[in-house]
Amino acid sequence: MEPTDKQESVFEGIAASPGIAHGQAFLLTHREITVPEYSISADKIDAEVDRLDNAIVKTRQQIQKIQNEIRGTIGEDEARIFDAHLLVLEDQALIGEAIRDMQTELSNIESSIWKIGHRYVEAFAQIDDEYLKERASDIRDVMRRLLSNLTGEQLQHLGEFVNNKVLVAHDVTPSDSASMDQANLLGIVTDAGSKTSHAVIVARSMNIPAVVGLGDITSKINQNAVILVDGYDGKVVVNPSEATLFRYGKLKDKKRSLEKRMIEYSKEASATRDGHPVKLMANIEKADEAERALELGADGIGLFRSEYLFMNTHKLPTEEEQFQAYRKAVEKMNGLSVTIRTLDLGGDKVFDSSEVSMYRESNPFLGYRAVRFCLDHENVFKAQLRAILRASAFGDVRIMYPMISGALELSQCNALLETTKNELRTEGIAFDEKIKTGAMIEIPSAAIAADTLVEGSDFFSIGTNDLIQYLIAVDRLNDRVAHLYEPTHPAVVRTLNMIVEAARKGKIGVSICGEVAGDPVMVPLLVGLGMECLSMSSTLLPNVKFVVQNMDMSEAKAIAKMALEETDGSVILEHLLDFYTSRMDQLY
Ligand code: PEP
Ligand code: MG
Repeated sequence: MEPTDKQESVFEGIAASPGIAHGQAFLLTHREITVPEYSISADKIDAEVDRLDNAIVKTRQQIQKIQNEIRGTIGEDEARIFDAHLLVLEDQALIGEAIRDMQTELSNIESSIWKIGHRYVEAFAQIDDEYLKERASDIRDVMRRLLSNLTGEQLQHLGEFVNNKVLVAHDVTPSDSASMDQANLLGIVTDAGSKTSHAVIVARSMNIPAVVGLGDITSKINQNAVILVDGYDGKVVVNPSEATLFRYGKLKDKKRSLEKRMIEYSKEASATRDGHPVKLMANIEKADEAERALELGADGIGLFRSEYLFMNTHKLPTEEEQFQAYRKAVEKMNGLSVTIRTLDLGGDKVFDSSEVSMYRESNPFLGYRAVRFCLDHENVFKAQLRAILRASAFGDVRIMYPMISGALELSQCNALLETTKNELRTEGIAFDEKIKTGAMIEIPSAAIAADTLVEGSDFFSIGTNDLIQYLIAVDRLNDRVAHLYEPTHPAVVRTLNMIVEAARKGKIGVSICGEVAGDPVMVPLLVGLGMECLSMSSTLLPNVKFVVQNMDMSEAKAIAKMALEETDGSVILEHLLDFYTSRMDQLY
């Protein structure tokens, strides 16, 4: 696409899905259904309820159809996003209120359902919680579909008209992402949204570059304007000049060739230039991902986020279902270790079912989460421990407890594990008698008193995503305070050092499985501080391995020393960036 002679402008938002897209904008401005409003007589009430019932059935079928398509084309996890939509249709509070409104106001069902639905949307949208804000978008989406079925007015499907363009919209709903054809949609740019929006999750797995949270970008871009989306840096360039296009063309080529070369290097062993091994492992959410981890050179699975087996199902997975999933991952890893983290539900990962309810909390990250929930639901915890123990008969399995706040919790977890082992022994069921267990260190109290946790642990795994949010008091989901989320903050560096020291004194292993482990810029510092193992998303493994292979342990130690003495986090980061650039220069 040729550059235009119009003035170039650049907008900055949140880099939500990496990659670079360049093309014409498809501006989605209006897509609401016209809602008819009229009065009805009392004898028409039953007929209106019937109309609503029929529309609900039809809407459910449409959503299930989309869900099946997504399951076939993208994957099970993304398909499960639509479970939330199905739940809206079953929400008796919302539907019941709409019927009551129709009965008292004697208005047609469309106007009542729209009025009540709108009230719910606004209530959720005002809550300062990313997860609950997403519920507003789910309800809005389902309401539009329901109205379309009540009025017969057709909803526009994005896939039909985006066609090789960049979608520019206020928000992108999960239904929208279902109708996106990977080949047709170049990129996504939205006013609203965060890295955790459902649609963004789908965009990421479809490899569609996306920049979100731009405020009012829809009022600044004209239909068919030429735009460039930089999903690496969170920038949108409208009317890019020839110079900008040239620069981004080069960047795209460079990124592609670098990725290829680093994948080549990742086939070699993970050790520093002077021969110190550093284990690099993968974080996975489902067993199938183990294959990709192996392809990209993982030394094992450092974090299997088992709660994804529970999310969006609204039903507890059975011991057998869990066992099959864990065993699959263990067998795929072919003798390499697999660390299964016990359930970390709560926080942003809410689970609702008829068997257990987690309730909405005002401070979910400080609430009923992870082992706090598990120790309170012994049957759920035990079923999972049994499944993990059974899987341990098929390879090198380790158990890791999330959100340990102190020694008492750890000993309660271990006691339940011992009871579970005894039960399996009595039943004659095989498991690894030497199975290792570890505590995640992700709460400041656990970090400060790490020495008290050594006795009950074979290893520590540091969850920096949570540890940093709790240390600096910065919500990891809130983009308004994202600038304060600083992994090189002196408090973070010192805390990491304290944990390593406690592990060293207690003669147990120590690793990191938070996002910083996959940040190649942070790697020399983490290795220098004494981390023996880093665990990250598989796609990040090649770049991290390249850095490890191109540094000496003495350099890493010098960096750690500097970071421990320095009082300014931005200066530490500058040093790290300089070091990283010097290593990447070798690759160019
Ligand atoms: C962490 O907190 O760093 C971690 C790995 O766990 P999660 O991101 O799942 O909370
Ligand atoms: Mg965590």
